[in-house]
Amino acid sequence: MALPKHSFIAWLISNRALQLKDKLARLQISQDDMCCLCQPASDTHQHLFEECHLCKSLLRGASIWLSSDLTQRDILHVINRKRWSSVRKKLCTAAVLACWYMVWMQRNSAQTEGIVTDTESVIQQIRRMIVCRFNDCKPRVVSPKDRIWLCKVHFI
Ligand SMILES: [Zn+2]
Repeated sequence: MALPKHSFIAWLISNRALQLKDKLARLQISQDDMCCLCQPASDTHQHLFEECHLCKSLLRGASIWLSSDLTQRDILHVINRKRWSSVRKKLCTAAVLACWYMVWMQRNSAQTEGIVTDTESVIQQIRRMIVCRFNDCKPRVVSPKDRIWLCKVHFI
């Protein structure tokens, strides 16, 4: 249920292939390797998608909304091992990928324009994207257990 653009960025993250400042600093193209979102940290894959305050805030917001802890390390493997239904796993995975995508977008916006949207607005944006995607891709048959969870998290 993840949007293709979110999956693509997640694939780049997992391959450490995004062009971040740490890489440019290593190549001596730039001396600035600081995170645009929280200055004292380095602009690295590990920092941006695991440690950065924005990423943590977005994942915390998605966790509250989806009633599912999405803040743990190695979260995609954690979701995969959970005894959740397929629908819940897909929606939680889509939410994590959307959070990472929005971290990447906010990081770029901060770097190029100096603009960072407030966290609550970004969480609402993620929520709208995931609900819209769910409505486009929702399974024809929803189990009673899924129905209860989907109602609880306001999908149906
Ligand atoms: Zn940061």
